Amino acid sequence: MSDDYPDLHLFIAGEWRVAGNRDVLPVLDPTSNQPVAELPVATRQDLDDALAAAQAAFPAWRDTPAYDRARILRRAGDLMRERAGRIGRATTMEQGKPLAESTAEALACADIFDWFAEEARRAYGRIVPSKQPGVRHNVIKEPVGPVAAFTPWNFPTTIPSRKMAAALAAGCTVIIKPAEETPASCLELARALDDAGLPKGVLNVVFGHPAEISEHLIASPVIKKMSFTGSTAVGKHLSRLAAETLTKTTMELGGHAPVIVMDDADIDKAAAMMARSKYRNAGQICITPTRFYLHEAIHDAFVEKFAAIAGGLTVGNGLDPETGMGPLANTRRLDAMEALIGNAREAGAGLRLGGERIGNAGNFWAPTVLTDVPDSADIMSVEPFGPVAVTQRFSDLDAAIREANRLPYGLSAYAFTASGATAMEISDRLEAGMIGVNFAVLTGPETPFGGIKDSGHGSEGGIEGLEGFLNTKYVAQA
Ligand code: NAD
Repeated sequence: MSDDYPDLHLFIAGEWRVAGNRDVLPVLDPTSNQPVAELPVATRQDLDDALAAAQAAFPAWRDTPAYDRARILRRAGDLMRERAGRIGRATTMEQGKPLAESTAEALACADIFDWFAEEARRAYGRIVPSKQPGVRHNVIKEPVGPVAAFTPWNFPTTIPSRKMAAALAAGCTVIIKPAEETPASCLELARALDDAGLPKGVLNVVFGHPAEISEHLIASPVIKKMSFTGSTAVGKHLSRLAAETLTKTTMELGGHAPVIVMDDADIDKAAAMMARSKYRNAGQICITPTRFYLHEAIHDAFVEKFAAIAGGLTVGNGLDPETGMGPLANTRRLDAMEALIGNAREAGAGLRLGGERIGNAGNFWAPTVLTDVPDSADIMSVEPFGPVAVTQRFSDLDAAIREANRLPYGLSAYAFTASGATAMEISDRLEAGMIGVNFAVLTGPETPFGGIKDSGHGSEGGIEGLEGFLNTKYVAQA
């Protein structure tokens, strides 16, 4: 156990509940897989208390002027900014990513809260001109009601922030179940909101057995909206549960991002941007670039530059300032890397870099580049969610776009070209919710984040992020 790591609680109806007689789950340090803390598991009574709190707090929070809701959210954002070092350290200890990445992530949370604080004040409706004299058609936006949110371990502060900030700004109350593997990160955000004066019961944080909690919360008539980030398989399961109660959903699911690099692209820039993007958070990012379709004229040159950057990364403990890439977050990812990379090698893929575990303690995996990987390899269809890039060569853009669109996923995609016309053609034809053209950063608070096809539906971030937590009411008044 670590003295350095925050104490873990449930946060229900404004109370910080300790483990007491509850069951506990271990939280593991991914550099060693040794426990750092014990996490209290919510009982059925805790979940019912959270539902009752979210329901009871809703009318007053809904009726709190947006101006005042915004002030609390901005204050919470300021606290997150002040505490970014501490929050970042907790994230690194439980998730593994380098401290610089964790701290930047905590600072990004502050920006997300700032953005939605402002958006709270812009939940505009509209007045529609009427056919009948003396009648006014009003279109009004109202918060949907209490929200259930489920978030994963890869971005344990920004993913909860996108959901909590938007829902709270809209006037909704929230019950969030963050990933049990990375609980302290979201609890630190809840602490900032509590310290900023969020009324009791408006936010509730619970942990336990994911399937039991989601089943219980989604079945409850209290919950009016469910927002999930995680795998497509779990997203489909939760969508089926939500269908029973006709609960609205936002689904941020898996991806398998294609990257098309044309022969006229700035190869140095493309390789540097894509290598930074690929190995950030050890590739455990739903929008990480994965399938590299490289024009045959530049394939080898691109691979050399990309692999040189990847090979130069120091892999180690995220708390060490020298570390460029931390361990994978859990042993499941290590097993997945072994299986997918082994299978690709058997299918005939070339190994340009990495391809193996580093050491035999913790979840360290070497940055990996596989070349000329055939479509028959599992890795060309299964989201690797780890530090591996795979390449194929193309000569014909139509064929590259067909390949890029081959999978059921449609989250993010990237293209590099010096031609405006080619850029427009690729971005028009790629089936993805987000596309970076000569650019890799797709995650600002002010821009919509979301996918199509098996990558889900709904957007978080941007003005669309607030919209997901609002109902539209039409009032005709004579
Ligand atoms: P998983 O699908 O079991 O879990 C993903 C997240 O969903 C976890 O936080 C988990 O606690 C939660 N979850 C699982 N079952 C749930 C349920 N019934 N109700 C509510 N929440 C539930 O997989 P994993 O092993 O943690 O990750 C594996 C895959 O998940 C990855 O390969 C990747 O494809 C996907 N993933 C995607 C994202 C993303 O940002 N879209 C994040 C994490 C994982």
